[in-house]
Amino acid sequence: MSEAKPWLRHYPSEVAPTYEYPKHNLARLLVDTAHKFPDRPALYFLGKTLRYREVLEASYRFANALKELGVSPGDRVSIMLPNCPSAIIAYFGTLMMGGIVVMTNPLYVERELVHQLSDSGATVIVTLDLLFDRVQKAKAQTPIQHVIVTSIKDYLPFPKNVLYPIKMKKDGANLAVTYGDGVYSYKKLLRAASRAPICVDVEADEDIALLQYTGGTTGISKGVMLTHTNLIANTYQTSHWCYRTRLGEERFLGAIPCFHVFGLTVLLNQSMYRAGMLILIPKFDINLILDTIHTLKPTIFPGAPTMYIALINHKRVKEVDISSINVCVSGSAPLPLEVQERFEALTGGRLIEGYGLTEASPVTHANPIWGFRKIGSIGIPFQDTDTKVVDSDSGQELPIGEIGEIIIKGPQVMKGYWQREHETAMTIRDGWLYTGDMGRMDEDGFFSIVDRKKDLIIAGGYNIYPRDIEEVLFEHPAILEAAVAGVPDEYRGETVKAFIVLRPGMTLTEKELELWCRERLAAYKVPRKVEFRQSLPKTMIGKVLRRQLLEEEKIV
Ligand code: AMP
Repeated sequence: MSEAKPWLRHYPSEVAPTYEYPKHNLARLLVDTAHKFPDRPALYFLGKTLRYREVLEASYRFANALKELGVSPGDRVSIMLPNCPSAIIAYFGTLMMGGIVVMTNPLYVERELVHQLSDSGATVIVTLDLLFDRVQKAKAQTPIQHVIVTSIKDYLPFPKNVLYPIKMKKDGANLAVTYGDGVYSYKKLLRAASRAPICVDVEADEDIALLQYTGGTTGISKGVMLTHTNLIANTYQTSHWCYRTRLGEERFLGAIPCFHVFGLTVLLNQSMYRAGMLILIPKFDINLILDTIHTLKPTIFPGAPTMYIALINHKRVKEVDISSINVCVSGSAPLPLEVQERFEALTGGRLIEGYGLTEASPVTHANPIWGFRKIGSIGIPFQDTDTKVVDSDSGQELPIGEIGEIIIKGPQVMKGYWQREHETAMTIRDGWLYTGDMGRMDEDGFFSIVDRKKDLIIAGGYNIYPRDIEEVLFEHPAILEAAVAGVPDEYRGETVKAFIVLRPGMTLTEKELELWCRERLAAYKVPRKVEFRQSLPKTMIGKVLRRQLLEEEKIV
């Protein structure tokens, strides 16, 4: 077998391969920074700035308010909010009193909400007046006792072009909330609560800080138990990876949602740890993003490939100076080469591809930002993170270059799935996290993802990885977005179907596309079916929902 950890050779000298991770409450990320830099701006939201001492005081108040309501350490508190200051304050406040945060997607429909609140056993939910109706309907079927409502009016007047992820009824008719009977105004609750400092001691390796639901796009939604140590470790790993960032100087563009663990760690926790200013964007709106870059000059912009694609293809990008952006870490989905190159040319900064999953808090791999990197690769394992490519069934390590399942060990790997021992035992075997992602490692220790195990298409006996084909489609000058999936086929079992979004004003026929693919792919991989669409369905983080494409396919 090869050299044990070939990637260590490629660590920049500024990044130590191993670190000490403090064993304390995750909320200390905020507490410690606020003590050092009380007057620095911590959050920026729709024209308002909150300083570190203000965020700290509000979080203490939130923690004390929860205690007054009878919430105890270990109890679950759901936060169902888009990116806004109350989401951040509720997050730190819950952690400070020893509660477990359950991040809930504000787009969830009643059925999804009932599942998550019942499964987690959350007794408190913090939400927005716009979502109140939905929460109230779900409440009766869940253990929720307290509903804390933050009002969109508190942020008025907000710029017209800000669209919340929720459709507002005309004149705010759906903003009406009936208070009393377990329903509280966030603002009043905070005002009445003590601001006495509170940040309970925790067993950082054991106590759960976050119950993060995943599997929504692939299977039954499960709660991933992330401990205080898991999240502190991943925050430290990420921050040290970005070693050139300056303490107290960076401005983070918060376009990815904090209710996803990518946003939580790479954006929120990192910004707090580095005493940065976090610009909270409630919804990915390209004009708002461009205006924000123009006026606030953010320096760090974590995102998903679809966000960078939208930005570089927008007509205003030629007028707006986006060169303040120094560092972009792209995760969640493969980053097409062409996008990386154009983005770097426009900003003069670095756009690197990383990789992670909720079960690992989430980041496990990344390309060195200012060092040696490989395009098309997810990079090398993070500090203190071990990785192997194995045969999924036997767990046997495979030789360099062979495709197998990527498995991971490290301080950021979850404790397990909430109340799902069987799934936990299937996913964590001998201390290794089985990611379900198929990939390979090269001689330098750089990894690349070939595809998800379950996205594999088997057509006429051939194994086909959608990503191979998507790369070829992305190279076509008329194609803006593309996704490939396997659809049932009487003869071949499955066949390859491409879903294509064309660039505005461009045309492309099925025949032309077929020729393009034939020149670049083995015949069995060439899509037999093509559907041109206006857009592709995506998760809030910007990942294409292959499963939804397939479901729509069944309906048609
Ligand atoms: P989630 O748990 O929602 O964060 O989704 C994690 C999954 O996203 C991983 O298991 C991968 O399938 C996928 N993913 C994340 N980063 C990348 C990447 N850079 N390239 C390809 N797939 C990725």
